[in-house]
Amino acid sequence: MTIAIDTRHSHPERRDPERRGAEPSVDTLAVRGGEPARHGYAAVATPIVCTATYAFADSAEIADHFEGRVEREEYGRYGNPTVRAAEQKISALEGSDDTVLFPSGMSAITTLLLALLKPGDHVVMTSDCYRRTRQFLRTTLHKFGVEHTFVAPDDYPAIEEAVRRPRTRLLLTEAPTNPLLRVVDVQRLSDICARQRGVKLLVDSTLASPFNLRPLEHGAHLVLESCTKYLGGHNDLLAGSVSGDRDLMGALRESRGVFGAMPDPHAAYLLIRGMKTLAVRVRQHNESALRIARFLESHPEIERVYYPGLESHPDHEVARRLCSGFGGMVSFLVRGGLSTTSRFIDRCKLPIIAPSMGGVETLMEQPALMSFYELTPEQRQAIGIAENLVRLSVGLEDADDLIGDFAQALDRI
Ligand SMILES: *Cc1c(COP(=O)(O)O)cnc(C)c1O
Repeated sequence: MTIAIDTRHSHPERRDPERRGAEPSVDTLAVRGGEPARHGYAAVATPIVCTATYAFADSAEIADHFEGRVEREEYGRYGNPTVRAAEQKISALEGSDDTVLFPSGMSAITTLLLALLKPGDHVVMTSDCYRRTRQFLRTTLHKFGVEHTFVAPDDYPAIEEAVRRPRTRLLLTEAPTNPLLRVVDVQRLSDICARQRGVKLLVDSTLASPFNLRPLEHGAHLVLESCTKYLGGHNDLLAGSVSGDRDLMGALRESRGVFGAMPDPHAAYLLIRGMKTLAVRVRQHNESALRIARFLESHPEIERVYYPGLESHPDHEVARRLCSGFGGMVSFLVRGGLSTTSRFIDRCKLPIIAPSMGGVETLMEQPALMSFYELTPEQRQAIGIAENLVRLSVGLEDADDLIGDFAQALDRI
């Protein structure tokens, strides 16, 4: 039994003050949402259930299980109570019927796309998105006869034209995108899908987290998170999730059992623990990132800052309308080339040089040297990855300490 929390709530930061108290806020959902009134053993924390298989009392119980008269687990690849608890908390946060958890974000994406698509189907995906997802479309799905079209995230007429192709089944986008932090108008994309029959809108909302954006409230059919990032929040686990309606999630759970992409209960436990502080963490990430973005934008050694919270960002208005915060990611161009930019990164003392994002530690990377290292400068330029681009995941260190560190590094390049 789960506690009586209606998961289809409006966001607390934009909620009508008159209704405050009528619906649980995202803070409450993060701590208590999706949890039973009492866990097993009367434990306050979710127990980690380490078992590969589950015992049946007798043959009659097997029949009861298969005919749906009892709710219970059968085998570890099909289900685990700790994993289930993590799924229920994510559903509470996303406002979805159901959620399926995976061992990584990529395993969520690949299992979902393989479950959803068949030869001849067509997928539309916005560019400036997670490159391994693009790679999966270009290689594996292409090999199985699934076609795709990449469209710029702000070219709505081109998106609509691509979606109108008769075999289009899926429009896939990220909000915000990575690394240029474009905020696509999810509502507008859902209107485009609604004008066609049978086209689903899937939003990878990893960079926003459900604290800042809940795509299902804006008409998306499916929302995906790399829980490795903000939901886990501590750079200590890998996981991924897909949330959506009951039928689709039931089918996806079946596919997970067949593909074997079952997460480990220890990771699920860490994820639950991380999600409890989602609201306080992301509120602070939002606040620090905005201050740091403003500092960088005013600095003479910085050529340009990409942050949806700045008035200079092309999607500032969309972000204000759809999101309750602008997120913890800041991308920027250092005045100079590849090596000046590397020198800046090397001279910063606080940020850790590492890929990934969304954790308590501030991480920084130069996409030309890290995520896009094997491309030529020309290929990088073609997809908008400048040699002097820096991607920053603002952590929970004091924002003034970070600003002071950036200032000393910029003074010395
Ligand atoms: C990291 C990331 C992924 C992949 O997630 P993993 O947990 O690393 O497999 C997918 N989409 C986005 C937007 C990401 O940032």
